Amino acid sequence: MHFKNDKAIPLPIIRGIHQSWGYDKGDADFSVTELLQPPKVRALSIQHKDELVQDYSNSIASFIGTSVHKMLEDGNADDENLITEMRINSSLVVDGKYYTISGCVDLIDKNQNKIIDFKTTSAYAVLGDKIEWEQQLNIYAYLYALEFEKDELPSAEIQAILKDWSKSRAKNSNTYPRSPIFVKPIMIWKKGDIEEFIKERIRLHIDALENPQDVICSDEERWMSAKGKANRCEDWCNVNEFCDQYKNNMEENK
Ligand code: SF4
Repeated sequence: MHFKNDKAIPLPIIRGIHQSWGYDKGDADFSVTELLQPPKVRALSIQHKDELVQDYSNSIASFIGTSVHKMLEDGNADDENLITEMRINSSLVVDGKYYTISGCVDLIDKNQNKIIDFKTTSAYAVLGDKIEWEQQLNIYAYLYALEFEKDELPSAEIQAILKDWSKSRAKNSNTYPRSPIFVKPIMIWKKGDIEEFIKERIRLHIDALENPQDVICSDEERWMSAKGKANRCEDWCNVNEFCDQYKNNMEENK
């Protein structure tokens, strides 16, 4: 991956962004984030890894998120009941082959048998259901139970910091979050269902590597707007220049 700076972001901020690039999945086959990526995106990213170019301006959201996570990690480090930023690697067998999954759980409350994931996001993001958050925390719950040899899966919640929260909107709406911190409980599935879900994601990713162009990203994966704009493809997918599906859709919509 190469980086460019088309928006002329000042050097001190570029250095801060570089400083925030800490997470490494190590020798694992998949990070949890990768597992939840559209298989076509991951497969094209691997196929074109030496040609990929990303603008630093697209790293700002993750830079803010990582910085906030660091403060939360440091701020909670001395509480003996809590484990912060715990990396967990676990293997499971899919179609006769071992695959290792790596995840980082933001906070584990040992007394309450609860895992917590911090998000820095918009107020809009917490108003509806986000299935990817549910999937992510279910995988973490599964990894955590394996790591600690627990029969019972932990409960889980998102603690979201709403970057754009507005006091006046909160006053004038019944549905808008009441506070810039929003706590969202996450439903935990049955253990067997999580395991099947993980295995299915692994299969999809392995199949996609065979021929990425034959794989189709769904409308949900493409973040289709009500007006028919594929938001992810157009603005957020760093493999769009290598993607036939995107190019064909652009041709059709001309
Ligand atoms: S450009 Fe769109 S269709 Fe192509 S890989 Fe990216 S998200 Fe999927």
